[in-house]
Amino acid sequence: MAKKLTIYGGGPCGLFAAHTALKLGLEVSLFEKEADFGGLAAGHRKGDNWYDLGVHMLHAFDQEIFEHCQEAMGTERIEVPLKAHIRWGGKLYHYPLRGRDILAGIPPFTLARCLTGLLFAEMEARFGSREQGSDAESALVELYGAPLYEFFFEDFTHRYWGIHPRDLSAEFVRRKMPRLSAVDVVKNLLEKLKLTKARNATEGALRFETLHYSRTGTETLSRSLARSLKENGAQLHANSPVKKIRHDGTRIIEEGDLFLSTIPLPQLIQSLAPPAPPEVIESSAYLRFKPMTVYALLVDKPKCMDALYTYYRDRIFHRVGEPKNAGLKVTPGDHTTLIVEMTCEEDDEKWTGNALPEILADLAAEGICQPEQVVEHHLLHARYAYPIFEHGFEKHLTVVTDYLSKFENLRTTGRQGAFTYPNMHSAMRMGADAVEDLID
Ligand SMILES: Cc1cc2nc3c(=O)[nH]c(=O)nc-3n(C[C@H](O)[C@H](O)[C@H](O)COP(=O)(O)OP(=O)(O)OC[C@H]3O[C@@H](n4cnc5c(N)ncnc54)[C@H](O)[C@@H]3O)c2cc1C
Repeated sequence: MAKKLTIYGGGPCGLFAAHTALKLGLEVSLFEKEADFGGLAAGHRKGDNWYDLGVHMLHAFDQEIFEHCQEAMGTERIEVPLKAHIRWGGKLYHYPLRGRDILAGIPPFTLARCLTGLLFAEMEARFGSREQGSDAESALVELYGAPLYEFFFEDFTHRYWGIHPRDLSAEFVRRKMPRLSAVDVVKNLLEKLKLTKARNATEGALRFETLHYSRTGTETLSRSLARSLKENGAQLHANSPVKKIRHDGTRIIEEGDLFLSTIPLPQLIQSLAPPAPPEVIESSAYLRFKPMTVYALLVDKPKCMDALYTYYRDRIFHRVGEPKNAGLKVTPGDHTTLIVEMTCEEDDEKWTGNALPEILADLAAEGICQPEQVVEHHLLHARYAYPIFEHGFEKHLTVVTDYLSKFENLRTTGRQGAFTYPNMHSAMRMGADAVEDLID
């Protein structure tokens, strides 16, 4: 007998979960709070142009997901070689950042200290018996040694999250940061010294990987996925925020049989009726998200940058993208658009738009564009951009997920629903896996 699956949230995870459910013969209804589907990866039309909430490009690492997206996007899909940089200390480095690049930007005496620290950290990891620390500061020192932590990671991490590494969980470091080998770093540095003499350093630092985009930006992907779902019989409801989810203590008793939530975990807990126990509500409040603001700029200049995007360590923004370099159509054609991203707090000066003068000054200082060339600016916000792995968050996450596991016909997943950091294809895979798990 066909069962009915209700999905909360129409981002990449919810959309691909809907596709999986249809393929498995379920009836699907999906409820999305916003007017458009796509979540963080939705496109935003302002005037004649499309802007992404932080440049979003699809990776082809998951074959099944990629093939489905490829079919849905059809001829609108553009293949783009990845060309991305990190700007630090007046130089451009390859992105993703490699250890040897961090070290190559350090003055010789500090470099010697950092390498010694790194070597000790590696020996300690291999032969030492010290207990692992539970905060990000201890984890970064364990991974890279104290000098490199103090020189590079402490200030950068603090500025990015607005939280000192001492107050972030070690889990964040263990999941996201690669271990460096001091021996490899020295070997690579020696090679790099030779390379720098022989070739242009920036050119040598680039690595090419193919990404997938479109002339209207990231909106094509979610629009195409939504269209394909509708054609195959799914009921998609935009402008339909989920506010109340009724249950009897063991099952969700809304209309339908199975329920998949991809909305932020704290919101899911707050929506439950009757309310979750006080300790669960209290724990869900510890699961915080870092908001993000994008200043979407139309610039009277044909081209501003040489890369798809560049990360900045010492500016008010963390990343600036120029999607025209990935094939975005910009109107008028002799203009370009910039996607200027920064983490922030709700209602601070970045969120409200008051940071514009500082942003324009930093763009000019980086040689990207002059203030008078910015002819339009628009603000895009993400309240739930990055889950914050604060020190001790794991025990609160366990309280919340243990409680939710009592509901046999509900799963919570995706970036917001599992409180984690997937890319689009991984969030889609999470959605597909959750549907299969629900059916099992
Ligand atoms: C700046 C930035 C750049 C990124 N760039 C890339 C990239 O280049 N490539 C890549 O692969 N990934 C990228 N990502 C990651 C990608 O955005 C996420 O992996 C993906 O959007 C996660 O999908 P999701 O469906 O799990 O969550 P979301 O996209 O957050 O979707 C959740 C959905 O739930 C809806 N919702 C929330 N509350 C309710 C409610 N009460 N009722 C109904 N609906 C609700 C939201 O409106 C939203 O549509 C980037 C992320 C960020 C922040």
